[in-house]
Amino acid sequence: MTVPGPEAVTTADDPLAAIAPRLFQPLGVDGVYARTALYEAVMARLADFVTRQRDPLAEVLRFPPVMSRRQLEKSGYLKSFPNLLGCVCALHGSEAAIRSAADRYESGGDWTTSLAASDLVLSPAACYPLYPLVATRGRVPADGLLFDVAADCFRREPSRSLDRLQSFRMREFVRIGRPEQITEFRERWMGRARQLAEELALPYSVDVANDPFFGRVGQIMAVSQIQQALKFELLIPYHDGAKPTACMSFNYHRDHFGVVWGLQDLREELAHTGCVAFGMDRLVVALFANHGLDPARWPASARRALGL
Ligand code: 5GP
Ligand code: ZN
Repeated sequence: MTVPGPEAVTTADDPLAAIAPRLFQPLGVDGVYARTALYEAVMARLADFVTRQRDPLAEVLRFPPVMSRRQLEKSGYLKSFPNLLGCVCALHGSEAAIRSAADRYESGGDWTTSLAASDLVLSPAACYPLYPLVATRGRVPADGLLFDVAADCFRREPSRSLDRLQSFRMREFVRIGRPEQITEFRERWMGRARQLAEELALPYSVDVANDPFFGRVGQIMAVSQIQQALKFELLIPYHDGAKPTACMSFNYHRDHFGVVWGLQDLREELAHTGCVAFGMDRLVVALFANHGLDPARWPASARRALGL
């Protein structure tokens, strides 16, 4: 039996092909890579840079790469992005049943037909586990709540593009409170993100956006999301003439998670929520793609911002 060997991370005609091997090493599956020391050093500096932007009142939580399947189902993820979800499956049952499934692999058969879903999914975004957790704490205080969360996220989108990973890191600042608190938070962050891009000497634009909702009904959801201006993105081109890549998003969920999790404030009004997501891997690739492989030769403002 042949196991697919690791291939090059990018296709030869990719403008990033020259820098890719210094950043990522192939692991046999498109969009899932080992990261080099060079790449991780910049990732660590960028994570510190983001931390310095955090509101001192924010509560910090770090989530594992998996979350409760029931919680994600209840969040409505299957309505919007069923195609992107990864579910953790395992061999269940008696020792004999598990042994016979595993032995099928040894005899060249397909062991995976015996898999059954577990109670875990791979987290598709860092903020999903937060809302049910906050709901267990009771009412949202008058000033609202602020969090700094992060997780390794998974979306089932195999691709050879370096900006489309299946496994990537997401950092989010999340606001929970009254509608005006969320819109103020989001507006402020859309301004702040422009400044950050400038400090990092990255070309950027900010534009209204939609999530890639699944199927034909999804197209209607996408139009409605744009009409209501619920999502904006910070877009950064990786090279001259490239279609810019969404490296941050600014999301207003209205009362969606408030309704799902019964999140209410002291006046028994449903809480609204919003989040600012940093696509950490996309930002690090953006830095190398725009400034080159030697951080010592990056623009002075980027080196200053990152403490390089
Ligand atoms: P959103 O929830 O807005 O789709 O994702 C938040 C951020 O995560 C995006 O702005 C982007 O920076 C990052 N992200 C989303 N999908 C991918 C992906 O396929 N690969 C990588 N590297 N980052 C992603
Ligand atoms: Zn979020």
